[in-house]
Amino acid sequence: MRTPKLKMQDAKELASGYQGWFRWVEIGSITSFWALMAVMVWRVWPHAGTSPWLVFSAVLVGFILADFTSGFVHWLADTWGRTDMPVIGKALLRPFREHHVDQKAMTHHDYIETNGANCMISVPWAIGAASMPYDRASTWYHWCLFGSIAIASMIFFVMMTNQIHKWAHMDDCPRVVTWLQKCHLILPPAHHQIHHTPPFNSYYSITTGWLNWLFLKIKFYPTLERIVTAVTGAIPRQDDIGIDAAIAIAPAPVEVVPAEEHPAVHRT
Ligand SMILES: [Zn+2]
Ligand SMILES: [Zn+2]
Repeated sequence: MRTPKLKMQDAKELASGYQGWFRWVEIGSITSFWALMAVMVWRVWPHAGTSPWLVFSAVLVGFILADFTSGFVHWLADTWGRTDMPVIGKALLRPFREHHVDQKAMTHHDYIETNGANCMISVPWAIGAASMPYDRASTWYHWCLFGSIAIASMIFFVMMTNQIHKWAHMDDCPRVVTWLQKCHLILPPAHHQIHHTPPFNSYYSITTGWLNWLFLKIKFYPTLERIVTAVTGAIPRQDDIGIDAAIAIAPAPVEVVPAEEHPAVHRT
């Protein structure tokens, strides 16, 4: 079935939604995040020599969880909600809409705009990981060590995700970054372009992209969309690509009711 003409939002209007007050929140979040990561390294260091495999496997688990988290959050933000929603509309959903209209815009964002929002989400988790007790006499010692390192690794790579995503859209990257992309240790540009093929409804993971093929095969996101639509009546992607295209590709049949009868459905 051919997808009807996509009705995307205006790129300039979306870009103008970056607000000054939010930048200060981002600066505070980035500073707090790096301070907490330093505390984490300082606390884990004495244990790395005695439990190297535990530390390595916890970092790897966190790396894979970060790819899952990046895909899940990306799917949520691409698929549901509207840019005119209070607070999250401008602060969190706007960059995702802007990115589908203008892929290269994010390559002009500075370090703070690129990484601030992810640091903000990561700070509460970093506080939890950095304050985990490490008592060698406790029967919970290995669980506490593994759990806190896995959480710290996950949030570190979640925090790196926007930077990795930005590199996937840049024409010229540092050599080491290009090498990491070629080895598929971070998101390769050609792999990510599959997500940028309209109607933008697959390959959501943007840290390494390791989970994308598997999730496509098991229809992970279409299944979630069916459930959300069944429960709320909301149409996936209607704010991103317009209601007609969204209805045409929705995994579940959608019943369009007048907005005043069902607040989750608005014809745009
Ligand atoms: Zn997207
Ligand atoms: Zn992208």
